[in-house]
Amino acid sequence: MATQEDPGTKRNAEIGEQAMIEAILEGSPEGIGVAVIRLDCGCRKMAAVNKDGEPASKIIMYRDQAESICPQCQEDNGDFMRVTEQFIHWAAPEPDITTKTAIEAKVLGTQAH
Ligand SMILES: [Zn+2]
Repeated sequence: MATQEDPGTKRNAEIGEQAMIEAILEGSPEGIGVAVIRLDCGCRKMAAVNKDGEPASKIIMYRDQAESICPQCQEDNGDFMRVTEQFIHWAAPEPDITTKTAIEAKVLGTQAH
């Protein structure tokens, strides 16, 4: 119920991530979503994708509340072996489920195969 905000005192990774997603979408007019890849070290990789599932921005790596990404990432550039979670954050209005599924498969891949 309470909608009071507490600016500046409490921040977490999710808020930083959201802000980053919005900044990427703002800079990528073609982007209909942002692929978010979380790494086991706490760094993130993100890139906008367009309606065809092609990259619509550069891949951005960042670490929340830090000046730069961690030494591990600087070395291996966020190796996919260290990915803990990946998903696409869709910009509103979201595409239909068929489009979403197709883009997810293309962008996030099917690493199990
Ligand atoms: Zn890292």
